[in-house]
Amino acid sequence: MNIIDRNLKFMSDLQYGNKPNTIVLHHAASRNCSIEQIHYWHLQKGWSGCGYHFFVRKDGTVYKGREENVVGAHCKNHNTGSIGICAEGDYSKDIMPKLQKEAVVELCEYLMGKYEIKNIYGHKELGGTECPGKKYPLNEIKEEVKENIKLGGSYPGYLIKKDSHKFDWNVVKIQRRLVELGYSVGVCGADGYFGGDTEKAVRDFQGDVGIEIGVDGVVGRITWGRLFG
Ligand SMILES: [Zn+2]
Repeated sequence: MNIIDRNLKFMSDLQYGNKPNTIVLHHAASRNCSIEQIHYWHLQKGWSGCGYHFFVRKDGTVYKGREENVVGAHCKNHNTGSIGICAEGDYSKDIMPKLQKEAVVELCEYLMGKYEIKNIYGHKELGGTECPGKKYPLNEIKEEVKENIKLGGSYPGYLIKKDSHKFDWNVVKIQRRLVELGYSVGVCGADGYFGGDTEKAVRDFQGDVGIEIGVDGVVGRITWGRLFG
């Protein structure tokens, strides 16, 4: 997940202690805007700065808003237990571009893995608003996330290998599957970080099934297929 940080300067009255158990989806109600504009608009309202935790543009780029552990300013009565994700665009009338929808799905999966979040809501489901607009693909996004989070799913299309500093939801899936098959992925369990123990488990699995591409500790299309096929 590539999250762009524009180093927004927030007012000093930010409140910490947000414990996310829900994701709330919004739209900007503006066809073209940047994270800097949203930040400015929210400062103009007298808030501490951008009220959302993330902003996803139409081209699928993801920007950081407030820190995840900062109480949001995006959904009344739910700001201390949620992550707010805003999408550029006006989805009361427009159709969301595919790249943007995919980025929202991926961001939701990443956050759900990170915080064990189970629920995704559109803003209107939690408060008296039209947000994120009747054309926002709310159900499609929820369904897609649900489908992807199930064990297996389709091969994500890149080599998944040792990189113990980066959380990856696909690594959680691989680790859970390896554990299910009797391989240890280390003391932390299925934590989404591909470290040495996970690499060893992948190698052991590849050896045990006699994988045709050779034992390399990397999950590519063939190993993914053997794990979930
Ligand atoms: Zn909203």
